Amino acid sequence: MRQFLLIKRNLSHVCKLKPYKDTKWLMPDGNPTGIYIYSCVAGDRVPVILKDPTIATWYSCGPTVYDSTHIGHASCYVKLDIIQRILKWFFNIKLVTAIGITDIDDKIIKKSQQLKTDYQTIAKQYEQEFWLDMANLNVDKPMIIARVSEHINSIEKFIKNLIDSNMAYVVEDSSVYFDTSKYPLYGKLQQVQENGEPSDEFKRNKMDFVLWKGQKPGQPCWKTSWGEGRPGWHIECSAMVSKLFGSQLDFHAGGIDLKFPHHENEEAQSCAFHNTNQWANYWIHVGHLNLKDIKMSKSIQNTISIPSLLEKYSADTFRMACLLSNYKHPMEYSDDMMKMAQDIVMKIKFFLKDSNVYVNKTMSDRATYNYKLLNELQMTEERNLEALKADFDTATCVNSLLNLISSANTTIKLNKNEYCPVSVTLIANYVVDMLTKFGLKLVDSSEENISSSVVDTLVDFRHLVRKNAIQGKNKELLTACDIVRDRMKCVKIQINDSDTPSWIYVK
Ligand SMILES: [Zn+2]
Repeated sequence: MRQFLLIKRNLSHVCKLKPYKDTKWLMPDGNPTGIYIYSCVAGDRVPVILKDPTIATWYSCGPTVYDSTHIGHASCYVKLDIIQRILKWFFNIKLVTAIGITDIDDKIIKKSQQLKTDYQTIAKQYEQEFWLDMANLNVDKPMIIARVSEHINSIEKFIKNLIDSNMAYVVEDSSVYFDTSKYPLYGKLQQVQENGEPSDEFKRNKMDFVLWKGQKPGQPCWKTSWGEGRPGWHIECSAMVSKLFGSQLDFHAGGIDLKFPHHENEEAQSCAFHNTNQWANYWIHVGHLNLKDIKMSKSIQNTISIPSLLEKYSADTFRMACLLSNYKHPMEYSDDMMKMAQDIVMKIKFFLKDSNVYVNKTMSDRATYNYKLLNELQMTEERNLEALKADFDTATCVNSLLNLISSANTTIKLNKNEYCPVSVTLIANYVVDMLTKFGLKLVDSSEENISSSVVDTLVDFRHLVRKNAIQGKNKELLTACDIVRDRMKCVKIQINDSDTPSWIYVK
């Protein structure tokens, strides 16, 4: 309570912005978007307000590139990708997206020493793998990719500013620490317990954290005015974001494990640097993905790589599983959960095929509007927009889509007397529009494999029929076989008529 009063007093003196509902979160000046988002600083949902009504800045903490990514990373970046797509495509916000890549770090150096190569080679290899995995998950590449090794200059200037303003101190080995005792808002994102003595001999206060690591023999280092060394982890994001976006950031995202201390430290040093009380307006934290109640971590060998995930399930199925779970909460990964997501994707795909067949092949000359269906569509559209405004409630959207599909299916399959192609087409179009905006492709590469086996079956069957037609001199069947061959050619499949049937894709 005393700490909170101190914060309020501090805010009223320095900052023009007002605390929201007596919380530590400050309401930004600007244009309300109608969206409400959970804020860990407020402990509640807060309104999303942007300085410019159509432009917003977004920064995600990216990977430390020393190993392959796993499905824990997949769920984090897919869920963040979904939120970005919602802001862009449902609320017409021009989002400027950036990600930080930690390409210099203890773990990268250790791995390079184990493999007897340089740290840049390790970093480049795993960064490339990361982008390939993200592309296979249909995660949009951020507009700006900021690598730590390319921003040492900005990091150095940032730290120098904090030393000069007495917010940071240099110690014996040229390491630099942030002095948390000079920053009364520390603990804004997460209440911290300050028990015991500082764990590091150089620290003045237990919660102080390293901004710059003094040089260690045999490790890469950079020269600065206070000595040689390399950046600490927390300072990287703050310095890169400040260079790119200035003194204020709209959205700052990452996994829940980054909330403390990483994001707390980022906020503290950035507020100190920019002399403000709120640097990132909206912190977005994605809940963990758990596998059999064990947290995904590289230190224990229970990870599933992204290629093995995508061998078993499509990117659409995984994205559907992400849509069905609340982004903030933990997600329990299991085959049952994935099968459920798979069934939903299949149900949607079958509906799209059935609606197409219904519209084109129903034997009726009397098309009518089905106002009940059209009303249901309109209500679903309104409900879904409201759900997205309420902290991106995608699960509600998927459920309303399924209800809408169920009503349309009833019309398609059961109501033979009423032919309503307009309503069914509008619903199919809405379903595709919603899901592609969420980042589903609805057609993916694994379908090519399925179609290969389908073509095999068809070609074998045709071969058998043709052989019998030749023996029995059945001209009608032979002509039918020729028609099949010609039609397959139209869809770029060339069939070779020999003793052993074969076919190839023609590109
Ligand atoms: Zn970060």
